[in-house]
This record gives sequence, structure tokens and C-alpha cells, in this order.
Amino acid sequence: MMHCYSLQKSAEYHEQLKKYLPLGQHHNFAKPDSVMPVYYVKGKNSRLWDADGNEYLDLYAKFGAMFLGHGNKKLQDHLTFALENYPITDFSETDLKVCALFQRYVPCCEKIRFGLSGNEMVQNALRLARAYTKKRRFIKFEGHFHGSSDNILGGKTKNILAPIVYEDPDSVFYTEGRASGVLQDQVIQIPWNNIEILEKTLKSYGGDIAAVIMEPVNINGGSILPEEGYLQKVRSLCDQYGIVLIFDEVITGIHMGLGGAQACYDVTPDLCIMGKAISSGVVPVSVLMGKAEIMGLYEECRVSQGGTFNGYGIGMAAIKATFDILESDYTSIYHNMESCSDYLRKTLEDAAYRRGIPLVTQGPATCFSFHCSPHKVQSYGAVSDALFKRNEILRQCMLKYGILCCRTSRMYMNITICEADISFFEKRVQAALADAEKIISRLKLLDSFIDAPSYERT
Ligand code: PMP
Repeated sequence: MMHCYSLQKSAEYHEQLKKYLPLGQHHNFAKPDSVMPVYYVKGKNSRLWDADGNEYLDLYAKFGAMFLGHGNKKLQDHLTFALENYPITDFSETDLKVCALFQRYVPCCEKIRFGLSGNEMVQNALRLARAYTKKRRFIKFEGHFHGSSDNILGGKTKNILAPIVYEDPDSVFYTEGRASGVLQDQVIQIPWNNIEILEKTLKSYGGDIAAVIMEPVNINGGSILPEEGYLQKVRSLCDQYGIVLIFDEVITGIHMGLGGAQACYDVTPDLCIMGKAISSGVVPVSVLMGKAEIMGLYEECRVSQGGTFNGYGIGMAAIKATFDILESDYTSIYHNMESCSDYLRKTLEDAAYRRGIPLVTQGPATCFSFHCSPHKVQSYGAVSDALFKRNEILRQCMLKYGILCCRTSRMYMNITICEADISFFEKRVQAALADAEKIISRLKLLDSFIDAPSYERT
């Protein structure tokens, strides 16, 4: 019989921290995370231990950045070598090697620049696109996340005929203090995965659009895959209208292979951004890669890009280490993550079915989502409030039995995931689902799909 964890020391630490950190958290959007943070004291491979001595399976993986497992020895050796040998200068021997690695794998990578965060590189990509096209607006899609800058965080549209974005006070991404007019001046937002809507929007606004930016697989919206042929059609519409196509591969880069989603779907954007897992999350690094003609605006000094730490030695060493480790046994590393992921998904679906909670999993193997719903989520709009709450309840119940996953019900694999992790999961998930089922029933959150006729276990 599994008992739910006591988190007393974490609670005490959290109380102390709240005196200094707003909310006792390192970040917040308008609706604070209702889960009290857990304070970890140790990590090894896929596991973490907290201050109360509880053990966790880390499928949260620091928002998907942790990819080589906690405490990866080879990665540590690379970092130690870099610390001992690279002076703190602009360049080190790794720059050339890392650039060549990205160029080998990432189809759009003709030229490359380095930064520290995804947020920052998204803004650099938009600036390049505006300068290159001499147009001002960009199209983004509902449910896609591209960082927290004023011009790209959240926002809502009235309908697809009026897709200009305004501030939405009900959204989790609502914020005061935004520079006035940036959303309205720059952003057009439409549903993703619908080529007719994009075509119509371009007919009306194409002459004003510098860039189309998207997650090529909409991980933040619920791990939604692109419809067959959708990315190809977006590519050709962008060519037709002279628009820069930007793939935000901050999550899909590395997680879907070293070439990202663009290599998997064989659709080459003009620019792309990667971050998070490219350095396995131990130090921050992000990259902006793209066509030589557009990146050439940096060569002509028509567009600026700056940052004290751009290309810093430790960051470069972390990328090099990550690529070296993955390249050393590429096929079997990804194959292992896929089969572990398949097993976890099936275990979760079966366990939920036994508890009478309709649940589906979807998305790429290494970054899939679960949804407490009888149907796969095909669009961001399908994530109703009730569904979001059910997912959150299950996530919180899993945490109390040692299974960590990401907000918006995502589970991330890392290369050390193994059979022992699967049995850890199997032993605990039943208890978590039993608790979740009680809470969901008490809150009457099941009503909305209880009669859904199409719920079949697959
Ligand atoms: N793009 C995507 C797709 C992301 O998921 C994120 C972060 N979750 C970002 C951009 C922003 O990256 P960062 O947090 O490194 O600024």
C-alpha cells in the first residue's frame, strides 16, 4: 500500500523563501501555480530526492531541459575541462565544433548565433524577419508559447475574421505593465493546423506580415501534432507571400532528434530557435539558426544582436557534450526513450481506465501529454477549463506519490530512463489515480464527458 508523501520540510522551506521571493516561486503568470514547490537535495539519472527524503521520478525535467539525466558524468567531465582550460573570453575551441554540429543536423542552419534563452532568440528572429521583409506584423497561433516578452505573451482575438490581438484579462498570460499597443500593432493570432484560416488571413493581411512563427509540434498547447501536409502548405504560403517562416524548436529541438521537428517532417523553415535541452539544462544556452540570406543582415550590420554571454565557453561545452553523448549511440538512445515512453503511456492509460477516468496520451515520445478526456486534443480550444482542471488534479496527485510531470500535463523523457523507472511509475500511478478520481468526482468534473459515446480504450 503506497502512502502519500509528507512534504513538511519543503513546506517550511517554502515559507522561509516567501519572505524573499514573490510567491516563493521563480516565476509566475497571472494565475499562480497552486502546487507548493518541492525542495530537492539530490538528483541521479531520472530520480530526485527532496528535503523530506521522498524519492521522485522526474518526468518534469525542468520544463524539458534536463535531457541527459541528473548528474551525467560525461557532461560533468566536459564542463570541468572547459572550466579548467577555457579562459573567460569571447571565443574558445568549441565554437567551431558546435557550429559544425548544428549545421550537420539542422536543415535550416546555414548561419547561427548564440544566446541564453528561448525568449531572447524569438525576439531576435522577429527582428530579423521585420528587417528582411520590411513588414511589421507577425502571425502566431493559439496555444503556442514563445516566451514572455510584451509582444508575444498571450493575447486573444475576437474571431478569425478579426485576428488582431488584444489583452485578455481572463488569460493565464494576462499582465499589467505591457508596453501599450505592442500586441495590437504587431500580432495576428489564429488557430493552428487549419490551412484555410491561414490562407484567408494572408489574403487580408499578407502584405503586412513579416513572419509566421509556430511550434512545429504544438507542445505547449497539449502536444498536438501537425496535420498531414500542414507544415508543407504553410511553407509554400510563406514563400508565396514573401514571409519568413520561423520554427520555435525550443522544445522539439533535440527532443525530436538532433535536427528537430524540421528534420522529422522534412520542412525547412527560414529561421529556427532551439534552447532548453541542447545543453541538457545544466547551463542556459539558446541558438538562432537560419538561411544565410536572412542571417546575412547581421553581416551587413543592418540588424543588431548582442549579449555579454553569447557563445560563452561553458555553454558551448555543454552543447558539445550533449551532442557527443547523443551521437555516440544515437539510434539506441532515442529508441530506448521511445519504448519507455510507450510503456509509460500505456500504463497510465490502463490505470486510468480501471479507475473510470477517461484518459488519452498524445504527442512525440519524449515530450508527450496526457489529457483526462475521452478524445485526443486536436486543437488548443479543445482544452476546456474542466479538462485543464482534471489534468492538473491528476498531476498534483502524482506528485504526492513521487511522479513529477510538467504543468499542462506533460511528461518528458531523458536518456537514462529505464525499466526500473517504469516499475517505479507502475507501483505509484494507481494510488495517484485513486486519489485523483475521488477529487474529480467530488468536484463533479467528470460530468462533462460521462456520457461521451466515443470513449474506447486503444
Ligand atoms: N519557446 C517555447 C516553445 C518554449 O516552450 C519556451 C519556454 N517554455 C520558450 C520559447 C521560452 O524559452 P525560455 O524560457 O528559455 O526563455
